[in-house]
Amino acid sequence: MSTTAPTHSRRSAILTVTDVVAETPLATSLTFEVPTEAIDRFGYAPGQFLTLRIPSERTGSVARSYSLSSSPFDDPRPTVTIKRTDGGYASNWLCDNICVGDQIESLPPAGVFTPRDLDVPLLLIAGGSGVTPIMSILTAALSQGHAPITMVYANRSADDVIFADRLDALTAANPDRLTVVHWPADQRGLPTAAALAPVLRPHRDREVFLCGPAPFMEVTRTALSDIGVERAAIHTEVYLSLTGDPFTDPAPTASDTTGTGTDTPGIDTADAPGTDTADAAKVAVELDGTVHQLDWPRDQTLVEVMLAAGIDVPYSCQAGECGSCTATISAGTVEMTACEALDPDDVADGYILGCQARPTADRIEIAF
Ligand SMILES: Cc1cc2nc3c(=O)[nH]c(=O)nc-3n(C[C@H](O)[C@H](O)[C@H](O)COP(=O)(O)OP(=O)(O)OC[C@H]3O[C@@H](n4cnc5c(N)ncnc54)[C@H](O)[C@@H]3O)c2cc1C
Repeated sequence: MSTTAPTHSRRSAILTVTDVVAETPLATSLTFEVPTEAIDRFGYAPGQFLTLRIPSERTGSVARSYSLSSSPFDDPRPTVTIKRTDGGYASNWLCDNICVGDQIESLPPAGVFTPRDLDVPLLLIAGGSGVTPIMSILTAALSQGHAPITMVYANRSADDVIFADRLDALTAANPDRLTVVHWPADQRGLPTAAALAPVLRPHRDREVFLCGPAPFMEVTRTALSDIGVERAAIHTEVYLSLTGDPFTDPAPTASDTTGTGTDTPGIDTADAPGTDTADAAKVAVELDGTVHQLDWPRDQTLVEVMLAAGIDVPYSCQAGECGSCTATISAGTVEMTACEALDPDDVADGYILGCQARPTADRIEIAF
């Protein structure tokens, strides 16, 4: 059975399912083979996610993001792990229908929920299906680094623990580096900020990666704040269902453009071709060590302007929901239509979403 239309978007690829594993009664892992022509685009960092196109008789298809639970350094193929959402469409469709040999369309890996350095002490905190990117980061950090890792993992009960055997095996293999603290709510009660604080306090100087249901994230953030963890050290992944169709690509892309860039290492200048730049703002945007000087028409998003200039800007959902295009603004101002992937504190700290940001100042400086 193919789960795709015969053609696919320019960014996406058709993946073949090579393995289906029931992790718990509610969670299933799918492993994929990436076609040869897409292997470069489908390299990923631990903690990133894929966005799958799931067929629907009602709407044609829906797009849903699923974090990679595999490690790019340790697992031969990318794997996502999907937990059934009560009454949810796509998660239940995937768990009920996908078999080995099926094909499914996916956007390339995306997301910024990934450690910059795998060799630093980590505090990993997961609730329920939020374990998926945490598992990827944990596996990668154990194989690539040497620093201690503590993982706190909350579930309704022991039966709901995804990857229980793998976590036991990793703990046994790394007794001096890895500690996993399970928090079964049926035995320890629902995690509260007051109850979590003493468990987290010994690790408050570490980089923190947190993913789980919204109420769990909220109490954990409070606990982290109460024990004095710096906001900059806390990295979060928010699970949302995408509302748009990121498989269609309305933004102009590099191959559509005649944008000019200089060969000066570290500095690149380009216009967004085909647009009226008379009233455009000026933006200096840093990406991968190069500062691009661009004209930024007021009606375009940063992602659109960068794509038009031929710059390989990170983005995925184009709806402010996934956070792949998160950047920081250090001068000037922007407005954003939707901003679900950031909380108000993030915005106050200068984080922006490139797929939503339009200029409201004449000179702007942004860094990815
Ligand atoms: C960055 C990121 C990473 C994520 N990682 C994971 C992960 O690792 N594991 C995981 O389990 N989840 C993950 N999620 C969450 C995941 O993307 C989905 O939100 C989750 O699976 C729930 O989707 P659902 O369609 O089952 O449920 P819902 O979104 O609740 O589904 C209900 C919706 O589907 C619509 N609907 C119902 N029937 C149909 C139909 N026939 N056709 C079309 N629409 C219909 C309804 O109108 C309703 O809006 C992640 C999300 C993000 C953003």
